[in-house]
Amino acid sequence: MRQKIVAGNWKMNKTFEEADELLFDITKRMENLPQDVQLIVCPPSVYLELATDIVEEDEIDLKVGAQNVSHFDNGAYTGEISAAMLSSMNMDYCLVGHSERRKYFGESHEMLAKKVDQLLTFGIEPIFCCGEVLEEREAGKHFDVVKAQITDSLFHLNDQEMSNVVVAYEPVWAIGTGKTATAAQAQEMHAFIRSILTEKYGEELSNEISILYGGSCNPGNAAELFANPDVDGGLIGGAALKADDFLKIAQSF
Ligand code: PEP
Repeated sequence: MRQKIVAGNWKMNKTFEEADELLFDITKRMENLPQDVQLIVCPPSVYLELATDIVEEDEIDLKVGAQNVSHFDNGAYTGEISAAMLSSMNMDYCLVGHSERRKYFGESHEMLAKKVDQLLTFGIEPIFCCGEVLEEREAGKHFDVVKAQITDSLFHLNDQEMSNVVVAYEPVWAIGTGKTATAAQAQEMHAFIRSILTEKYGEELSNEISILYGGSCNPGNAAELFANPDVDGGLIGGAALKADDFLKIAQSF
């Protein structure tokens, strides 16, 4: 059985007080969540310790993820955060390859492969984001684009390493736009991703890998998206900034 996951990507939002309040609101209302859904929050890095402290104190089943990691080991890389540092802060997950990082920070397939390696070395599960921009979909290139992203940044991994990766399909045209992929579009791409994982790693392993959908997912459309056989949950941006919406999405399986 694949792990169902709802992960919240807070991006560069919230002051310290607001982050504390959101974490409080989420953790205090988690008791009605289905047991088989793993909830993850990915706050900005300056609030990671706040999040892990709350989780430890309250002994709740909320996992914490970072939004980024350096592809370097350590040393003179001002502003960077290493996988070793994240691991020493008990990080469970880390986003890799979000389209905003690819676009604004020039993250290449090769750099993302190194980030994935760094995380796996330190026992942190990468949530690997992939997805096409609108022009690529309109040109009918979306399958090729996603295949290249996955092949170039993940296919050097061995079976054991790959089993610790979560994939998030996020069509870039759906991120923060209010324009969600239809349930059929999501299922089509998720099934495609699983088929290329099967080709490379075999059916048993590919059936264990959670593939999340991301892109304007909200309490109104989550159930339809999550009802698809290859959609194992969501990576949520805007709707993860309100505890109510985030928790409603997690109840949408
Ligand atoms: C995201 O940034 O990963 C995302 C899915 O954003 P939104 O839900 O706001 O589209």
